[in-house]
Amino acid sequence: MNSVISNEEIACQFPILKQPIHQDKRLVYLDSAATAQKPLVVIQSMNAFYEHTNANIHRGIHALAEAATEAYENARAKTARFIGVQDARQLVFTRNTTESINLIAYTWGRKFLNKGDLIVLTEMEHHSNLVPWYVLAEEKELRIEFVRVQDDGTLDMRHYLDLLEKKPRLVAFTHMSNVLGTINPAKEMIQEAHTAGAVVVVDGAQAVPHFSVNLTDLEPDFYAFSGHKMCGPTGIGVLYGKLDLLNAMPPFLGGGDMIKKVTFEGFSTNDVPYKFEAGTPAIAEGIGMGAAVDFLESVGMDAVFTHEQELTQYAFNVLADVKGLRIIGPGADVRGGVVSFTLEGIHPHDVAQILDSKGIAVRAGHHCAMPLHQRFNLPATTRASLYLYNTRADLDALRTGLDKVIEIFA
Ligand code: PMP
Repeated sequence: MNSVISNEEIACQFPILKQPIHQDKRLVYLDSAATAQKPLVVIQSMNAFYEHTNANIHRGIHALAEAATEAYENARAKTARFIGVQDARQLVFTRNTTESINLIAYTWGRKFLNKGDLIVLTEMEHHSNLVPWYVLAEEKELRIEFVRVQDDGTLDMRHYLDLLEKKPRLVAFTHMSNVLGTINPAKEMIQEAHTAGAVVVVDGAQAVPHFSVNLTDLEPDFYAFSGHKMCGPTGIGVLYGKLDLLNAMPPFLGGGDMIKKVTFEGFSTNDVPYKFEAGTPAIAEGIGMGAAVDFLESVGMDAVFTHEQELTQYAFNVLADVKGLRIIGPGADVRGGVVSFTLEGIHPHDVAQILDSKGIAVRAGHHCAMPLHQRFNLPATTRASLYLYNTRADLDALRTGLDKVIEIFA
């Protein structure tokens, strides 16, 4: 094992991975792109909150309310530092990436985009970075164009530059594809979009969990990600926004906490980020997210990335001579730990079902990227996705499982 982290040691910290599946099978979890498993420290942080600190935040003047508020705001500050953001006011806590992107569309988009304006997306987007823009485009009569994905699963950067010539108002793209594993050259793309005068939204759902992301260096206008894909709980996500943009945006949801003053005549909004956090937030989940950040930092994001790259290369080697198997997307050296493939003549659902019977969890379908599958003329693929707790043994098991699938369908 060349990996710089001992992933067996890491795996021990995830209770679910020690639990057998289908009675006596070892769980081989290869579905972290959908959601990651949670280490004990994250689970314990949430339990501890409910056992010792539970109270509503921001409003109370009692000891528990103050402790809960401090824990929640500490989690925000930690998460901000984790992605290289100095000012934690720039981080809005949402439910997930999907809500973060919808928030931009419903507030910034509705206020600042006008009939005929162009939005540039890419062909490799997740539905959560497509549908909010489709909804907005329908409402405001906007135009949408897509940067082409090349046969090797990378973006056609010449086409990107051509589309920027058309002066889009907004460019939105994924930092890393959840299907192809392609890591897009975000810094360069952001700079080019800015030169063209566009506001840039980056979907970081598959990036922040897997490699070091520094927003001070990247300088996007907005950046979205989810806690549950980075060892944190479900129900908590992040929207980063530049302060001047967040300040200029109208609120998203109305209610408690997002206001400064309410009278019979109207209301005034709270300061950012609270302006966008109406109602009681996911407090325990926010704290769990902070614990996930601590956990990932204790491993080190460079170590996580190196480990996943090494395992991805191993996956390519292990899968190389499986009969009829075709991996879509770029080579192992330029992608994250996501391997989507087809097996000639066998439906991905059948592949996933047989693998499941062996205790191997993979995903089959369009992975919320139907247009991308359309681009590759594929109704569906099978996806194995990796994280810091996966081992070479997991990929050996995948290989053995696929041999079984082929044997059954031969
Ligand atoms: N974007 C990408 C690239 C994703 O992989 C996902 C989750 N599959 C999402 C957005 C949506 O994340 P969530 O379901 O947490 O909102």
